[in-house]
Amino acid sequence: MEYKINLPEYVSIFDTTLRDGEQTPGISFSDKTKINIARQLDKLGVDVIEAGFPSSTEGERSTVKKISSLNLDSDICGLARVVREDMDACIASNVDMVHVFVSTSDVQINSTIKKGKEEILDLSYDSVKYVKDHGIKCLFSAMDATRTDEGYLFDIYKAVGEAGVDIINVPDTVGVSSPFKMHELISKISKHVDVPIDVHCHNDFGLAVANTLAAVESGAREVQVTMNGIGERSGNASLSEVVMALHSIYGVKTNIKTEYLFETSRLVESYSGFKLPPNFPIVGENAFSHESGIHAYGIIQDSRSFEPGIMTPEMVGHRRRLVLGKHTGRHTIKNMLAEYGISVREEDLREITERVKKLGDKGKKITDTEFYAMAEAVIGDIPKREQYITLNELSVMAGNKITPTAVLKAIVDGEEKIGADVGVGPVDAALKTIQDILGSNIRLKDFGINAISGGSDALAEVTINVEDEMGNTVSARSAREDIIMASVEAYISAVNNLMIKKRRGDGKGLKKGEN
Ligand code: MN
Repeated sequence: MEYKINLPEYVSIFDTTLRDGEQTPGISFSDKTKINIARQLDKLGVDVIEAGFPSSTEGERSTVKKISSLNLDSDICGLARVVREDMDACIASNVDMVHVFVSTSDVQINSTIKKGKEEILDLSYDSVKYVKDHGIKCLFSAMDATRTDEGYLFDIYKAVGEAGVDIINVPDTVGVSSPFKMHELISKISKHVDVPIDVHCHNDFGLAVANTLAAVESGAREVQVTMNGIGERSGNASLSEVVMALHSIYGVKTNIKTEYLFETSRLVESYSGFKLPPNFPIVGENAFSHESGIHAYGIIQDSRSFEPGIMTPEMVGHRRRLVLGKHTGRHTIKNMLAEYGISVREEDLREITERVKKLGDKGKKITDTEFYAMAEAVIGDIPKREQYITLNELSVMAGNKITPTAVLKAIVDGEEKIGADVGVGPVDAALKTIQDILGSNIRLKDFGINAISGGSDALAEVTINVEDEMGNTVSARSAREDIIMASVEAYISAVNNLMIKKRRGDGKGLKKGEN
């Protein structure tokens, strides 16, 4: 078959973070979490939110119902087998759309539903008819479509088309398709059935995004994706990648407000506990980070030199960052100091660069607070660090049959504040209390602990990374025999540095939108 591109103008985004995403091994969202994610997905502009599988549990049904009652702009969809009870559970949850699915491949039929192919076809027709008779939108999935006998697949799609289905989904349930196979299949299906086509691709061979885009090239008008690519096994096609490729590479429109991609990704990351690797495209920590001197110099001159250009950090709500290490050059150091509102003499710049490279060469990761202290030591006369938060008193209770509790007194921005909170352990309680009295959008991004030397009196080295709502990050380290104090000091030091950056560095350094 010739590869003929048949791009639609607009692609509808069907998000299944709350359904397939929740089926990720190890992920379970609470009711409240699902509602918060649904609100965020609506803000992001997804066309459809698959909120769950209402017949699976009582709790799931009540959550889907609550999400339906939020009156979001996104359509709310519930999943159902070709079983009356499942469809009724969706209908009772007041969803806008029912996603009916059934296995159609021999391997799945033989190992799970064990019904004849005629019966499956009839059940599919009847189920779609049942949903449509209730005046609700219906999406139909032939599960494992990419391993289903083609003739049978066309028959079943034709049957549900006759039953009045609104859209048919072609799932690559176990991720075995290739872009070319997907192109052939979608092109053939669209010749047999006159119903809009949707795709659902899994990432078993790392091809989920490529296969999804191949389906769009072949005329598919809707794509099923998840935030951060979560989902069964190796996950689903990642929403951010598919959407940004559609916008920036293909010039195809979606309803996604891409500037919310980063914050949505972070929200799902923190609720799922499923940490993104730094090299994750679009929203990963390194997506717009540069360490090498040559790259950083190029980036400072013109960001298109070592970035795609057709996609900028601003477009996705992320932030460009220069990173310190053995490859760092003077331009990076100069720029990082400018972020703190510090200008530097040439000889000092050389000296700071030398020190940074030396530490980087030893494989040491330099935190922002260490960098700042190093600059202070070399330059000598930079403005004194204003302490946004100073700790006055801290007491922490922990032990057997007691909820770990922290009580804390601190000066925050010139005002004395007192806070108390509980946590899963004493460190968590202490850090949560600081977070409470800060009351800002600063969040703890990373927490690492290292025991230096043996024994119970070992020095605990805590490294902390905090991030604000703009994606500014600052790292800090502290070492103490007292693990709680080491954590609290590192946290406070990171927050103080972040505030210097926010207040003094505003408009300096590597700005937003800078070429
Ligand atoms: Mn799936």
